[in-house]
Amino acid sequence: MSGLGGSRLNSQLCIVGAGPAGIALALQFINTGIDVVLLAGGALDHDEKSQALYAGEVADEALHSPLTEYRHRQFGGSSATWGGRCMPFDPIDFENRDWIEGARWPIAYDDIAPFYPEAQALAEAGDCIYDARQAVEGGMRPMIAGFEPEFFNPDAIERFSCPTNFGRRYGEKLRRAPNIRVLLNAHATQIMRAEHGNAIEHIVLRTLEGAEFQVHADRFVLATGGIETARLLLASRARDPQGIGNAQDQVGRNYLCHIAGTAGTLSVTAPATPVFHGYDRAWDGVYCRRRLALRPEVQREKRIGNIVMRLHHPRLPDPAHGRGILSAIYLAKPFISYEYSKRLHGGDGLSASLVLRHLANIACEPFATAGFLLNWARRRTLAARKFPSLIVTPRNNVFSLDIHAEQVPNLQSRIMLGEGRDAFGMPQARVDWRYRALDMETVRVALGLLKDDFARWGGGQLSYDEAEIPDAMLRDGAYGGHHIGTARMGASPEEGVVDSEARVFGTTNLHVAGSAIFPTSSQANPTLTIIAFALRLARHIKADLQPSTKVSIKGAA
Ligand SMILES: Cc1cc2nc3c(=O)[nH]c(=O)nc-3n(C[C@H](O)[C@H](O)[C@H](O)COP(=O)(O)OP(=O)(O)OC[C@H]3O[C@@H](n4cnc5c(N)ncnc54)[C@H](O)[C@@H]3O)c2cc1C
Repeated sequence: MSGLGGSRLNSQLCIVGAGPAGIALALQFINTGIDVVLLAGGALDHDEKSQALYAGEVADEALHSPLTEYRHRQFGGSSATWGGRCMPFDPIDFENRDWIEGARWPIAYDDIAPFYPEAQALAEAGDCIYDARQAVEGGMRPMIAGFEPEFFNPDAIERFSCPTNFGRRYGEKLRRAPNIRVLLNAHATQIMRAEHGNAIEHIVLRTLEGAEFQVHADRFVLATGGIETARLLLASRARDPQGIGNAQDQVGRNYLCHIAGTAGTLSVTAPATPVFHGYDRAWDGVYCRRRLALRPEVQREKRIGNIVMRLHHPRLPDPAHGRGILSAIYLAKPFISYEYSKRLHGGDGLSASLVLRHLANIACEPFATAGFLLNWARRRTLAARKFPSLIVTPRNNVFSLDIHAEQVPNLQSRIMLGEGRDAFGMPQARVDWRYRALDMETVRVALGLLKDDFARWGGGQLSYDEAEIPDAMLRDGAYGGHHIGTARMGASPEEGVVDSEARVFGTTNLHVAGSAIFPTSSQANPTLTIIAFALRLARHIKADLQPSTKVSIKGAA
């Protein structure tokens, strides 16, 4: 990969950002003859100084993580640490749902569906099959034998990437491509519009060593993640006082994550009922797991958002669960990264008596706990395709529910520019994440429907305290790592920041790749859909650009 030299780079396509979006896009141009520059604002691996450029302000720290957490400013972006959970958006996500303000896409599900299989391949998540009856030869094991819910689809599944670190997996391939230059430690600080007209002329790049450069290109793509894309557009005020693409004050609004948390107590009481909440493996070794997905017709009838639930182990901090494994993991929390320990039910204090009770749990199951930890090291820490998450079978078939719900659009939930400045003097981002009453209503109604489904079946009971739902869903704040909607797709500049081809309104040659463009958040984790949209964008751009007659010499400036 080249370093920087000279003060001006010329290319046909400049991709700013080298996470899954930027890398998936760049891969589509290998050997096309189109001259591509891919900018990674960071090094090959984690580097504190680059990461510090992500620092910013958070309006309510109880509701949102610090901006240096849950995103990674490096080659590969946040795929350096992602969990790899994959599933496509659902057709209903693209419908014009009149009960959800702002839930409008200018394209249909069928416009993106053809790109999912290839996105799966890039994410190394196996076949594009999301039905438990077909994902595994002979079908996956049932979650709860005999339970046939009316309101939920029990055959919905999620599949897992290795999880693939896009930087490590595809870096060499990009490096070898004759027409692609990858620039590390090249930080975009300003997008410059041409003095006349609507074209973007160049992007200003800075290095932490003090150099400044420009990239001139026919097409530019921002693939810098949902928070940074809004920041860059807003901070590019040299010729557009409100920022680029922000004539209608849309950039940074509708900042969505997901509404997620654990809630309820589910007791499966039917005698001799097998319950399985772990992973089955597809023919190629991909881990697949069932979840309960609220059926689309029920969402329409109840006028709520999209939501899924998974069976989950009991809350870790409460030693009453009696499981040595859960206690060992709880006590190991200080050694687990912020991003992964937070969701192990964080926030609870650890008193001496609590520690003793957890130790007692471990002492009661020393062999099971040790066996589990060894198995974890073998199947998770050392394996190339990692066992995706902690699965511990609770005693007496008593579970909690792990909920992952759509967050509906909200103009007041925003990324703005803050008062602080980064090392380049660029305004830092300020996050004011907010949710709406409908977000909690979706969870409340869905839990009620699942309770009814269990009551009708008669083999299990779901109990929860309705008044505690908001606390349970907000215990860890906005779901980390999913940064959606800040440059949303719309039919017009009044409705969004980019058009149906992900081109920024008011510009002729600036596009956005990444979850910033999603007008709604779905129940689905975003990365597979981010990749699918990057592939779709590549097709649009390829149709417009002609192969260069003078493909540049790699590394030349
Ligand atoms: C702990 C964790 C777990 C996750 N688990 C899952 C999961 O299971 N499933 C899922 O779907 N998603 C998951 N995610 C989210 C997933 O990582 C992101 O959706 C994905 O990485 C987004 O890809 P991206 O390319 O759009 O942005 P990013 O991965 O954020 O990449 C942005 C790129 O832009 C570069 N950049 C930023 N600013 C600049 C600048 N000014 N100039 C130049 N370059 C710049 C960065 O260095 C980086 O290369 C998780 C995230 C985290 C943090």
